[in-house]
Amino acid sequence: IEAVRAVDPRIADAIGAEIEDQRASLKLIASENYASPAVLLAMGNWLSDKYAEGTVGRRFYAGCRNVDTVESVAAEHARELFGAQHAYVQPHSGIDANLVAFWAVLAARVESPALQRAGARQVNDLTEEDWEALRNDLGNQRMLGMSLDAGGHLTHGFRPNISGKMFHQRSYGTNPETGLVDYDAVRAAAREFRPLILIAGYSAYPRLVNFRVMREIADEVGATLMVDMAHFAGLVAGKVLTGDFDPVPHAQIVTTTTHKSLRGPRGGMVLCDDSLADQVDRGCPMVLGGPLPHVMAAKAIALAEARRPEFRDYAQRIVDNSRALAEGLMRRGARLVTGGTDNHLALIDVSGYGLTGRQAEAALLDAGIVTNRNAIPQDPNGAWYTSGIRIGTPALTTRGLGTAEMDEVAELIHTVLAGTTPGTAKNGGPSKATYALAAGVADEVAQRAADL
Ligand code: PLP
Repeated sequence: IEAVRAVDPRIADAIGAEIEDQRASLKLIASENYASPAVLLAMGNWLSDKYAEGTVGRRFYAGCRNVDTVESVAAEHARELFGAQHAYVQPHSGIDANLVAFWAVLAARVESPALQRAGARQVNDLTEEDWEALRNDLGNQRMLGMSLDAGGHLTHGFRPNISGKMFHQRSYGTNPETGLVDYDAVRAAAREFRPLILIAGYSAYPRLVNFRVMREIADEVGATLMVDMAHFAGLVAGKVLTGDFDPVPHAQIVTTTTHKSLRGPRGGMVLCDDSLADQVDRGCPMVLGGPLPHVMAAKAIALAEARRPEFRDYAQRIVDNSRALAEGLMRRGARLVTGGTDNHLALIDVSGYGLTGRQAEAALLDAGIVTNRNAIPQDPNGAWYTSGIRIGTPALTTRGLGTAEMDEVAELIHTVLAGTTPGTAKNGGPSKATYALAAGVADEVAQRAADL
């Protein structure tokens, strides 16, 4: 750190302060974790300096033998861990992994003579009319994914994201009464819309998805099933999600991040069956820039860690903790979307405390509890202010906290939310952002959180 400080002390200070923050607060953001020292060290080194566009053995640069080793070891661990036919470990993030997957499905599935010729490397022979046809063919495809307020992700065809602009998009929600995925409604939407890609996977859905049924629906309408398991990859790796709930045997293509419940470096990954492997491997340079060899090294380490028996124990404890936290909150009167959780996350409807998600998020942060606000189904406060707080247990479980401590965490969250009242806007009217926390609550809870 002294080498960093000598160049710009502000950066050294920010790094130090971040370590302090992460130690002193309760990290309940469902998508965050603590990577191991081995993962961090595999990432902070000279591999970072190497250019290696292409894939293993087929690079556009000389001198890539060490990157080839790193990339093939990471892919081998990924294949073995998840039982996948093919793994592509280059994506720099989850969004990039999804873009690679979209490209692969488009390239493999869209019936476009111009595209086939382009794919067969006759690019220079294509006429202007061919290019026009190719753009039309690629641009007129349909995607069906889970809506954002039901817990889907921005990249699953949501309009502000490029996925919602590239594809004609429709979304499926959850049953308004139960909050659960309604497979009959998904099937009906798929029959009517006939998407090229049916996406399953979520960022804020607290239950399990049956991927066998999703695949049946996809097959019935000729869609490719893509599962984005970014959030729950650690639960799949740890064999907590098996059978119908493991996406890998059911989906033709699976994307993930590596830094959430999987506990690796920030990054993404694509798993697929052999029919899509060639197109997926063209991710770089088709969609991605040069790979990050240092991050692929860290992915290899994280994936190897996830193959150890102790990771299965870790994954099970994530879910046990999540249930204990949810039950602790509900016992104290909190309302949870779907009435509980089956995975690593839960969604508190904070309107029961008379708050918006934005107010609750800020009050919890004052008390050393780091969460994020999140829309709930049919959220009257929209995606910015929201009515929900998403909480997840992967990070606290890494820290070694167990179900007994989860009850204390539930108590702390409830104490803050019950002790917070909405503030007023500048014009004196009701505010969705400002809030007041009862005297002493923040300090007392922050101290108890730091002691955990
Ligand atoms: N997919 C899902 C389901 C996610 O929850 C996220 C991140 O929150 C992403 C993709 C995007 O990952 P990244 O931030 O690494 O691009």
